[in-house]
Amino acid sequence: AKCGLDGNFDKGEMVPFGPIEMNPSSGVLNYGQGLFEGLKAYRKSDGSILLFRPLENAMRMQTGAERMCMPAPPVEQFVDAVKQTVLANKRWVPPTGKGSLYIRPLLVGSGAVLGLAPAPEYTFIIFASPVGNYFKEGLAPINLIVEDKFHRAAPGGTGGVKTIGNYASVLMAQKIAKEKGYSDVLYLDAVHKKYLEEVSSCNIFVVKGNVISTPAIKGTILPGITRKSIIDVALSKGFQVEERLVSVDELLDADEVFCTGTAVVVSPVGSITYQGKRIEYAGNQGVGAVSQQLYTSLTSLQMGQVEDPMGWTVQLN
Ligand code: PMP
Repeated sequence: AKCGLDGNFDKGEMVPFGPIEMNPSSGVLNYGQGLFEGLKAYRKSDGSILLFRPLENAMRMQTGAERMCMPAPPVEQFVDAVKQTVLANKRWVPPTGKGSLYIRPLLVGSGAVLGLAPAPEYTFIIFASPVGNYFKEGLAPINLIVEDKFHRAAPGGTGGVKTIGNYASVLMAQKIAKEKGYSDVLYLDAVHKKYLEEVSSCNIFVVKGNVISTPAIKGTILPGITRKSIIDVALSKGFQVEERLVSVDELLDADEVFCTGTAVVVSPVGSITYQGKRIEYAGNQGVGAVSQQLYTSLTSLQMGQVEDPMGWTVQLN
């Protein structure tokens, strides 16, 4: 679709999944002018389909598009396009408890530029795929390694938005970690190399007694929608939640650590290796009680198994 800077995207069309044409001189291929979102559709036990907080993804794309010098589709148009994509792919939404349909909206600078500048035209695409558990461990605890040599994002950079370039910086660190047998990398801040930031594709939480702490949003980590949801769920369960600087030293005497994200949902962390030392949680066997409780609360909401007092789910049919 062609658009002006006011973000008037045309109606678009539904086409079979497959390769698309892209100008070799496009903003996205040359200068990384691309932004994406990720959300899931779950099937309820009665067969109907629920989307989880699509408006949040629509709004995050607006913020990200501004940072990337692009117009974004208006929020209603974004949500409507997501709904239509899911309805057109209904048969790919797995049965309750067997996974979900992952939906990937993409906004790219598709117009031609040669000198470094925002592209003059933009394309908004949505594709979808059924998915199961993100980590091969399934719901079992994952093992992380703290990386202080590689960083995801620097202050003033693009770490706070879901731009494709953030993931380019992660590829090598994550590959090395996986080759060493870890599930993923936990990044520290690029300035002090001391404060927790996030994992390659999820946010991190540290549990100590009744207090659940997570790094504050300061422009270098992604404001996760699952993060925000888990904070509200935890508060409603009577936990104290702190959004602040969380030092890597706090990992040493935490009771539990878990990650949150659309793909990973709530993933308990069994161990974290930092400067050659391995710290284990919940005996590294079972899942910590707090992680388990929050996982169950969130997933039962997402799958429509309990009342949704927050109004987070959107029923499709
Ligand atoms: N951090 C990063 C770097 C991510 O890619 C994601 C996944 N979008 C998250 C955190 C979690 O965000 P959300 O809960 O919105 O999926």
